[in-house]
Amino acid sequence: MMKVPLSVQCPYCKHSLMGSDKIIDGYSSVRVIIQYGNKRGTLFLSSVYDSHNNVSEIDVPLDEKVLFFCPLCNSDLLTTSLCDKCNAPMASFELSQGGKLNICSRRGCKQHFIKFADLAREISVLYDVYDVYSVSSPLLLTKKSIP
Ligand SMILES: [Zn+2]
Ligand SMILES: [Zn+2]
Repeated sequence: MMKVPLSVQCPYCKHSLMGSDKIIDGYSSVRVIIQYGNKRGTLFLSSVYDSHNNVSEIDVPLDEKVLFFCPLCNSDLLTTSLCDKCNAPMASFELSQGGKLNICSRRGCKQHFIKFADLAREISVLYDVYDVYSVSSPLLLTKKSIP
């Protein structure tokens, strides 16, 4: 199965969250700060869109919600939109190719999606960069099966 990495940046300071030393799924991972209770630590997320692999410096029990912060500007990355599946706030990141990556802030919930500001333009960009994805509904990307 072919895998492609996303390139994620902070929506506030626009710095890339890529380039960490931690390799997950064969690619440099996405680095964010999470907070659970009074504990704060780094969370490394796989940059492969359909992968849920991650490595956390702090222990978060399954089904607990965490706060997400940018490691560079410390902005709160949680949004007011709630997860369709579990009602936790979604954390939002920008893609350097354009668009947004939203992931659920509850540990163990696999809800995540990509949203485009300018659909036609962003899809053509995405097709150029990641031609393994296809669009199944206007705002939702799923993986196309590769013949
Ligand atoms: Zn930032
Ligand atoms: Zn959720």
